[in-house]
Amino acid sequence: MKRIAISGNRHQDGYFPELQQLVNSLALRDFSVFMRRRLADYLRENGVQIPDAFQLVEDFPEEAQCVISLGGDGTFLKVAQWVGNREIPILGINTGHLGYLASYSLKETDELLGIIEGDRGEIERRALLEVKSNALPSDFWPYALNEVAVLKAESASMVTVHAEIDGGFLADYLADGLVVSTPTGSTAYNLSAGGPILQPTLRCVVLSPIAPHSLTMRPLVVAGTSEISLRATSRSDYCRVSLDGRSFVMKCGEELRLSRASFSVMLMRRPDANFARLLRSKLLWGKR
Ligand code: NAP
Repeated sequence: MKRIAISGNRHQDGYFPELQQLVNSLALRDFSVFMRRRLADYLRENGVQIPDAFQLVEDFPEEAQCVISLGGDGTFLKVAQWVGNREIPILGINTGHLGYLASYSLKETDELLGIIEGDRGEIERRALLEVKSNALPSDFWPYALNEVAVLKAESASMVTVHAEIDGGFLADYLADGLVVSTPTGSTAYNLSAGGPILQPTLRCVVLSPIAPHSLTMRPLVVAGTSEISLRATSRSDYCRVSLDGRSFVMKCGEELRLSRASFSVMLMRRPDANFARLLRSKLLWGKR
């Protein structure tokens, strides 16, 4: 019997009939299901019947062999944090916007559950960035699947982000901020900052300044093994640091040390997954 954990966001308006079907399909198959309690409460409040056989959990169930994330890419990021360093495959079913990480639709549910049951999913190892710094708040999860961004805070002034790579000076970025993105995050904030789209399984990191006050500052792709050190200065003495959208305010001058995390997020894809097809369908790549 496969043990499946399921988590999701609490903004699923318009999807409740399909979500009931998903719950029914899970119950009919040979699965043992651990549903996040807050998701179960939300679904019940909206008329979805949750079988008594489902175990409701708050902490991640250590028995789980596979995880379903229900929501958009933002939800997938939160589910990745829930799974932590366990390297358990996560399948994203999309009820959000475009859906790069959560790329499947509720209409495919039965097929997807068949893939999980038959162990036929393709697993892509997705790299994360780890941040080390004295400035990290004590309970802050120091990993990012998309990106680490250093941003101006509390003022309209620019920040200057002093960047070093592997102990050598790289540049002082005078800008609204600097996005250090994984290949997974390349279609997120990095893309808005003018950075390149990277094939998600590449081993590299991209540094993309946000509105740089210089014509020579361009996005830069460096090796995934790079150790990156960042230090911000600003007229306002403070900057904001964001990891996948979770952020804190940091005093300027503190150092952030970024490197590749020792574990990966295991993203589950259909066996026929194809990055180029995803780009064409989600980004309308090449459409005129
Ligand atoms: P949010 O600000 O509410 O939403 C950010 C948007 O980014 C959502 O539409 C989300 O998709 C999408 N997204 C997240 N990861 C993505 C990925 N890997 N590829 C393509 N699109 C992606 O915040 P959130 O939902 O908590 O997500 C946090 C992420 O927002 C950050 O990691 C950062 O990349 C991104 N962000 C982007 C900008 C910008 O582009 N100007 C500014 C701030 C933050 P769904 O709707 O499917 O959830």
